[in-house]
Amino acid sequence: MTPSRFAVFGHPVAHSLSPRIHAAFGRQLGIALEYVAIDAEPSQFAQALAQFAARGGQGANVTLPLKEDAHALAASRSERAVRAGAVNTLVRREDGWFGDNTDGAGLVRDLTERHGLDLRGRRVLLLGAGGAARGVAPALLDAGVRDMVIVNRSPARADALADALGEPGRAYTRYWEDLHELGDFELIVNATAAGRQEEGAFVLPLSLVDSLTAAVDLNYGEAAIGFLAWARAAQCRDVIDGLGMLVEQAAEAFELWHGTRPRTEEIYADLRAHGRVLVGED
Ligand code: NDP
Repeated sequence: MTPSRFAVFGHPVAHSLSPRIHAAFGRQLGIALEYVAIDAEPSQFAQALAQFAARGGQGANVTLPLKEDAHALAASRSERAVRAGAVNTLVRREDGWFGDNTDGAGLVRDLTERHGLDLRGRRVLLLGAGGAARGVAPALLDAGVRDMVIVNRSPARADALADALGEPGRAYTRYWEDLHELGDFELIVNATAAGRQEEGAFVLPLSLVDSLTAAVDLNYGEAAIGFLAWARAAQCRDVIDGLGMLVEQAAEAFELWHGTRPRTEEIYADLRAHGRVLVGED
């Protein structure tokens, strides 16, 4: 049987763990599939995706910096993708690509089921307003957090995300330089890419932390070292990286494509065991 074709698009994408995760899911469920990483700059993405479709591509994941472009390119979108304004999963349909966003569901599943956190009623600080922040913000609100303060290096992008969320009394923005005046939070989510470039980017005020604070980095591997080190030094009660979210958002995408949900614990444990070499690209 010819394996069905899938890919992850990004720039850069060579270190993506998605091919390994989807291959493991396919083996687990006896589904023959081919899943490759395709590097495409934003200006080449539309053409690369069209070529992939012409070669029989049936589904794709999309990672940074292409999630907002994927949203624009999709012929139709799920409600959660529309709310996010970003697409991380594409499904080939007769009328073109259907765009969905599994990042938020992946994060919430990891936090609530793997780590046993109750998100309800929590005050949340969301750092970042890029594609990942856009994906997780609606899901966190739906999971019952009390309110969400969005802080981004570029304030206009934070304002655009708050506007898109459409709950001005619950999700609103503040400036990065005012972090020390915002009080404490029971959940702090780092959805920035700062840890990929800058050492010392995460010297955040200790006043953000209380006795219940869970600190969550969407990054994993080296890119998460700075934020997680700050969170441990600040004595956050839970300190969680993005590896579980990565595996859960992949399982959600797999289910969309294949109609069956894989178990995630084995591949999670496998990737965790090799944690020191992870770079973090998805
Ligand atoms: P984007 O490029 O869309 O957004 C990057 C975000 O990081 C923006 O908010 C940007 O701020 C901010 N940022 C970048 N550099 C700095 C800095 N030096 N200081 C402060 N803020 C900075 O990327 P994504 O949103 O798609 O991804 C963000 C991170 O989340 C990535 O590192 C990615 O690997 C990770 N991720 C993990 C997933 C998982 O499954 N675990 C899933 C998705 C993403 P500005 O707007 O000012 O430029």
